[in-house]
Amino acid sequence: MATTATHGKSAYKPADVSPQRRVRSRYTVRLWAARHARFLERVYTLLADVFLKLHPLWQAVGYRRAERPVKAVEKVVKGFLFDCRMCGQCILSSTGMSCPMNCPKQLRNGPCGGVRADGNCEVEPDMPCVWVQAWQGSRQMAGGEAINVVQKPVDQSLRETSAWLRVTAQAAAEREAARADQAP
Ligand code: SF4
Repeated sequence: MATTATHGKSAYKPADVSPQRRVRSRYTVRLWAARHARFLERVYTLLADVFLKLHPLWQAVGYRRAERPVKAVEKVVKGFLFDCRMCGQCILSSTGMSCPMNCPKQLRNGPCGGVRADGNCEVEPDMPCVWVQAWQGSRQMAGGEAINVVQKPVDQSLRETSAWLRVTAQAAAEREAARADQAP
């Protein structure tokens, strides 16, 4: 039987939303997080300190073994607060606590040219643009100027890994290197 490849429109179109939106239809908490970016920045700073203090524990257990339980907690907490997509390279501190992976185009360096006059997304007209939220959130934060730093493309090999643990391991390594430099 001869078949004809047709890649045009089909009679069935599931929904006029992006894949991100399909897995999360509400974003109330995410908007709250951007509105309380300063508070969450303080919480994150405290959490990062605690994680760094626990570095000997992570080392004793093994970072690799700690990955699974820590990632599970991170996924639940950040999923609830930010609709986190577990990109593994968290830049919330640079984006006003608005996760850029919720942008239907997953832009990590500012909005596209299609933001609507009301500040909503061009792909999903009823959704506030994550980058408009990011800018407003960043204006409240002590480290808000970090929004101007150009972000690298997402390293796909880090998806579904714990950003918390990686940042901790990196901070511990930097601390040890600084100590080694200071040693007589
Ligand atoms: S930037 Fe990545 S790790 Fe951070 S909240 Fe968004 S998806 Fe999650």
